[in-house]
Amino acid sequence: MTQKQFDLDKLNEQFERMQPAEIIRWAVDQFYPKLAMTSSFGPESGVLLHLVSRVRPDVPVLFLETGYHFPETLEYKNALIKQFGLTRVRDLRADPARRQKLVTDHAGVPYEKNPDLCCQVNKVEPLDAALNDYDAWMSGIRRNQTDFRKTVRILEYYEGDRYKISPLAVWTSRETWWYLKEHQIPQHPLYEKGYLSIGCWPCTRPIQAGDDERSGRWAGRAKKECGIHTFKEVKRPEEAEKPAVAPDNSENI
Ligand code: SF4
Repeated sequence: MTQKQFDLDKLNEQFERMQPAEIIRWAVDQFYPKLAMTSSFGPESGVLLHLVSRVRPDVPVLFLETGYHFPETLEYKNALIKQFGLTRVRDLRADPARRQKLVTDHAGVPYEKNPDLCCQVNKVEPLDAALNDYDAWMSGIRRNQTDFRKTVRILEYYEGDRYKISPLAVWTSRETWWYLKEHQIPQHPLYEKGYLSIGCWPCTRPIQAGDDERSGRWAGRAKKECGIHTFKEVKRPEEAEKPAVAPDNSENI
């Protein structure tokens, strides 16, 4: 829980004109060592990992180890850890008893029977617990990825009294691909096979040219977010002292 308060409107106005590297530098100056970032080690993950590693390679990287990742993702993760010299990658796992119950209650296929609950147990809850160690976290989400993300501000204040920073919010996919190319960052092995956005294997499909870049995630379902970007309410710092409002997690359970 942080006591820091900022003029969010003013800062966000400035951040809109700044490069991601400058925003990351600001975040490190303000919050390190109570600063982390999340990464799925997907096709675009190399951008934020590279940018952050050039400022501080010891910023903790939180990886949600759901147990359902493609082997290629885990290989890619190891390759980027080595290449960028990342020293503090944390694998976050669900509570074992809770995960076992989830699997048993859903005939071994929770991602088919109840993907919202599967994401809640394997992603949202482990991240929520881990974030207690930090005052701020960075994410690589971009505004043009999904409808929900269109309104993301670069710096947001969250229920739970911590900040979230999205240094790449204003970037397009073209800019991320150019960055990867310019810095000779290797691509996720499945990218060549049509996987533009990669999560757990049961919920990820390759896409066709011209499709929305995240259309291969939970294909055939209305679900577009796993919940880690939606489970907390955004609030203003001056609201910190007001009585807590229970989060609406109805989409996640
Ligand atoms: S993405 Fe799919 S497999 Fe992974 S946690 Fe969510 S529902 Fe489960």
